[in-house]
Amino acid sequence: MTRKLYWEDAYLKEFDAMVSRADANLLALDKTAFYATSGGQPNDMGKIISEGKEYSVLDVKEENGEVVHTLDRNFEGTAGAKADGKIDWERRYALMRYHTALHVLCAVVENKHKGGWKGGMIYADKAHVDFDLPILNKELAETVVNEVNSEISKGYSVSSRFITREEALADPHLAKTEPGKELIRKLSQVRIVEIGDFDIQMDGGTHVSNTKEIGTVRLAGFDNKGSHRKRVEIVIR
Ligand SMILES: [Zn+2]
Repeated sequence: MTRKLYWEDAYLKEFDAMVSRADANLLALDKTAFYATSGGQPNDMGKIISEGKEYSVLDVKEENGEVVHTLDRNFEGTAGAKADGKIDWERRYALMRYHTALHVLCAVVENKHKGGWKGGMIYADKAHVDFDLPILNKELAETVVNEVNSEISKGYSVSSRFITREEALADPHLAKTEPGKELIRKLSQVRIVEIGDFDIQMDGGTHVSNTKEIGTVRLAGFDNKGSHRKRVEIVIR
């Protein structure tokens, strides 16, 4: 199991760790601040330095609780070596701002317009979500984005914590759907991200600590992919 420093402090940019497994250009550490791709948020990139040698981190995946870094070349050390990590903060901070923005967007659609959402994707320069809200069109999407900006400007604090499976199953907002309940039943604890008293989601991502850090959201695209799949793309200024 790799200790996920990004869950303990989303603002950690550099860290010291120890190599737990090295296999050609795949490297696992005892702990890491490099986010592993999941939940629509792509992996971090950056550098790992060990025994005076520098490696670029190109990809990060989690496999059975172990976070595996894909390096630009074969790792020259062995298990037990010290390693320093430095994440590409500009990219990560953009991903954090977009991730929190998507949660606010989903919450606005859900709370004010009674629409559901079907997953989304975050990039360092844009993000999108597909909504199940048949009446959603470009004009309503513009209204929604204005509502998102008004919520963002309230300066909600954003926090994460772990709750037990039983607590999660008892929360009607977290366990809304049968697939959602099924997912919770497989976990011993559930990580949740709360945006003030405005939103609560099961989530493994990294978020800004206050919605004001997001900035201003702008509608970048609207795509009608069917009556139950309306894609809203946003950019942040
Ligand atoms: Zn999320």
